[in-house]
Amino acid sequence: MHKIDDQLAKVTARIHQAANAAGRNPQTVQLIAVSKTQPAQALAEAYAWGQRAFGENYLQEALDKQIALQALPGIEWHFIGPIQSNKTRPIAEHFAWVHSVDRLKIAQRLNDQRPAELPPLNICVQVNIDDETTKSGVSLAQLPALVAAIGQLPRLKLRGLMAIPAATNDPTQQRAAFAKLRSARDDLNAQGYQLDCLSMGMSGDLDAAIAEGATFVRVGTDIFGARSSAKQ
Ligand SMILES: *Cc1c(COP(=O)(O)O)cnc(C)c1O
Repeated sequence: MHKIDDQLAKVTARIHQAANAAGRNPQTVQLIAVSKTQPAQALAEAYAWGQRAFGENYLQEALDKQIALQALPGIEWHFIGPIQSNKTRPIAEHFAWVHSVDRLKIAQRLNDQRPAELPPLNICVQVNIDDETTKSGVSLAQLPALVAAIGQLPRLKLRGLMAIPAATNDPTQQRAAFAKLRSARDDLNAQGYQLDCLSMGMSGDLDAAIAEGATFVRVGTDIFGARSSAKQ
């Protein structure tokens, strides 16, 4: 077996195990292969194994890989990195999902720039769950207003919430952070929203995220290996 195949099989087994342990159907947890800094060839290998959803953080790099891999049917592109407002148009044109919307201006631009022939762009709102000053994401306090405003934008389909909690190896702390995101989602749904997605969990904490209800886990290192330190 090739290395990437092997790693994908291991991550998938971990997802199944975590879902089963939580009494959840493993089919309700989707794996996004986070392929930032990886060459198109690595994504092609993952695709050959059966992986379809890929997460990218850097726009130009992602667009180059999309061109290289455009012949692959059913490949699905998720934008998961910070978004500058002058970069929204290609994101609106070339991705199926955006997980990192954290302010209204970006949402409005994605809405206005989503091509008419494409279905509405799937959106997760990124929440700064641990209130870290260095991290992107809307605060929990400002989340309801942002969600209400995004709900008015017809070319966006608001699907759920995303977070990157403060790094910790302690499973109890990991679960506590993910539980906060889940409960924010549940509060919104109690108000009438229908948010079916929780994008949370990476290589180091996907098990805890699944225990708390993750529907997307975003995994890079455990599939493709360590990234070069220049671009994390
Ligand atoms: C890089 C990245 C990941 C993947 O992290 P790993 O620890 O390599 O699995 C997930 N989500 C986001 C938003 C990222 O930037």
